[in-house]
Amino acid sequence: MSDLMRRVTEFLAAHDPAATDRWEFLRARFDAGLARIDWPQGLGGLGASPAEQAAVDAAFAAAGAPNNRPALGIIGLGMASPAILRHGTSKQQQRLLRPLWTGEEIWCQLFSEPGAGSDLASLATRAVRDGDDWVVNGQKVWTSLAQFARRAILVTRTDPNVPKHEGLTYFVLDMKAPGVEVRPLRQITGESEFNEVFLTDVRIPDADRLGAVGEGWAVAMTTLMSERTTIGGGHSPRNAMVAPLMNTWRSRPELRTAGLHERVLELWVQAEASRVAGVRRRQAQAAGRPGPEGSAAKLSFSELNQRITAVETELLGAEGLRYADWRPERAPEGTVPAANRRYLRSRGNSIEGGTSEILRNIIAERVLGLPPEVRVDKDIAWKDLPR
Ligand SMILES: Cc1cc2nc3c(=O)[nH]c(=O)nc-3n(C[C@H](O)[C@H](O)[C@H](O)COP(=O)(O)OP(=O)(O)OC[C@H]3O[C@@H](n4cnc5c(N)ncnc54)[C@H](O)[C@@H]3O)c2cc1C
Repeated sequence: MSDLMRRVTEFLAAHDPAATDRWEFLRARFDAGLARIDWPQGLGGLGASPAEQAAVDAAFAAAGAPNNRPALGIIGLGMASPAILRHGTSKQQQRLLRPLWTGEEIWCQLFSEPGAGSDLASLATRAVRDGDDWVVNGQKVWTSLAQFARRAILVTRTDPNVPKHEGLTYFVLDMKAPGVEVRPLRQITGESEFNEVFLTDVRIPDADRLGAVGEGWAVAMTTLMSERTTIGGGHSPRNAMVAPLMNTWRSRPELRTAGLHERVLELWVQAEASRVAGVRRRQAQAAGRPGPEGSAAKLSFSELNQRITAVETELLGAEGLRYADWRPERAPEGTVPAANRRYLRSRGNSIEGGTSEILRNIIAERVLGLPPEVRVDKDIAWKDLPR
């Protein structure tokens, strides 16, 4: 048994999952460096190679331990934590990371605005310095999980007099601060996963600024590259994405039609290729190199998931179109939503976290080294840009 697995065994012996309070267990797991072994010591990890993480997770799961990566933690763990690790002060890291791993804090991402989605750097939410605080005004949109969130990662404009990428500053926002208003938006599935968020004279202490004033774009880039790997590269265990289709295929032979067998097999192979590529992406991310290649993982995941859910809907025929769960909240954790809900939700995959068109541009420019898009607004102060 490796030293690491011995540590896991000893930890489980000292903290019987059946007899230990959930939060206490998860906090102790973080403090023992077993939340994510490749993270630094004192911050949930042991500075070890990520290669054994899967075995560590499997051992905890087999012992009945609570999951330290709750589904609602996708933004906090997948997107905010890499930015905090890379750009945060050690005080911020100590304060912010632990409740993400325990699931005690759900976070959301206040990036997109009505006039700033693909062109995120054109955003208008303003932050003005006032003593030890910043005062923030603006509107964000499509904010997933804002209705549950304790904190948000937020990009603001702090200097309108310089070109759009240069005048941005990044903060961690307390979603309970006065002046934060969350209004739900109903999406195609009938659920309200995302929201509009209005910020009116919201005060953020300077201690909650992540990175230097005016350097928010670099922090946002770390976040977005991690986001693409998180969305596109996280599809383990084996078969997770394609399993519902395979189950329907196996259990309902009466639904099969000629030619579909080949398409189902092809999708299985592609899903497996996507999963294996995702393992490599996660390793690169763990090594601090999220890289633009994550865009390819996100692009292939979103297109593949749309094809998989479309084939299942086709297989189910009229049954696949019947919709029974128009609930306003996302499906409870651990449940597999109905096929038509999965089909409708997959439409958003090619928009959220960067549209497929934008990802193709990134792959062309930053991975393949093709000539960049023409950018006429690069040297113009943000306040002088037409809006
Ligand atoms: C399910 C879901 C969840 C989301 N969650 C969040 C969240 O939690 N937080 C958050 O901040 N945002 C979130 N978003 C917003 C998402 O990031 C944006 O919708 C996305 O970046 C696109 O921006 P936009 O909607 O403004 O479209 P636009 O930027 O207006 O684009 C419209 C169309 O033009 C195309 N286009 C734009 N520029 C170019 C170009 N240069 N070259 C080629 N084509 C181009 C786009 O690809 C798209 O097809 C979410 C979106 C969805 C669908």
